[in-house]
Amino acid sequence: MKIDLSGKVALVTGGSRGIGKAIAQALAKAGATVTINYRESETLAEETVEEIVKFGGTAASFQADVGDGLEVEAMLERITSRFGPPDILVNNAGVVRDVLFLQMGEEDWEKVLKTNLGGVYHCSKAAVRGMILKRWGRIINLSSVAGTRGGKGQCNYSASKGAVNAFTHSLAVELGPKGVTVNAIAPGLIVTDMTQGIMPFAEKVVHDRVALRRPGRAADVAPLAVFLASEEAGYITGQVFAVDGGML
Ligand code: NAP
Repeated sequence: MKIDLSGKVALVTGGSRGIGKAIAQALAKAGATVTINYRESETLAEETVEEIVKFGGTAASFQADVGDGLEVEAMLERITSRFGPPDILVNNAGVVRDVLFLQMGEEDWEKVLKTNLGGVYHCSKAAVRGMILKRWGRIINLSSVAGTRGGKGQCNYSASKGAVNAFTHSLAVELGPKGVTVNAIAPGLIVTDMTQGIMPFAEKVVHDRVALRRPGRAADVAPLAVFLASEEAGYITGQVFAVDGGML
């Protein structure tokens, strides 16, 4: 099956690096026009755009903090006036602030919830009207295995991703009758900047708990996002799919 996303406009939040970058590239390879959001990595976002343009795709980068509703609305206006409203929204932008609960300050809590959950809220809110008008849309949220299993030092992160799963189920119920699907991808341990600091510990986790005995790559996650964005995935909604190498 060859997935064809030509004619579709995609917005990938946090597309400057890591999993978001891999998803942006894969969507562009499938023919979508890809808009890449970033918060501060302008150079990396521009590099991603250039790489996509080099292989014949169409892309542009847009700055906004997804945790800020006004910035998100302004970004959606800029995207819409240049390319039209997004048909595909990948809510990928996320942060970690791992710290044991007793040491977890309010700033650690709020930063993670504001970005990981608030970002999904603001971007979905801003993008969904255009999808409803077309009676076609795809929302793909990046959750995590931590959203269902939790992890030491991750009360903030786990809470945000568990909430993203619940949000996914509820929004899918609301938007199903309007032709918009809403799904989530829950990666396991993927090698990106986010996991750089825990890699020595992660090697043991991979050995003891990952059936495929290796950490994932961003490119392992991207194909599922492309499939969920496709016409062919039109009867799949409200689901959370693990991409974790078989994590126990
Ligand atoms: P990453 O390499 O740290 O990249 C994070 C991306 O999010 C960057 O592009 C960053 O842009 C962007 N970002 C962060 N805060 C933002 C904000 N407020 N507004 C806009 N963009 C923002 O992370 P990753 O590993 O690729 O993770 C991507 C997603 O997958 C996240 O939602 C993460 O929770 C989830 N995930 C990752 C793993 C893993 O093992 N890596 C596992 C499970 C789930 P700037 O550089 O411009 O800030």
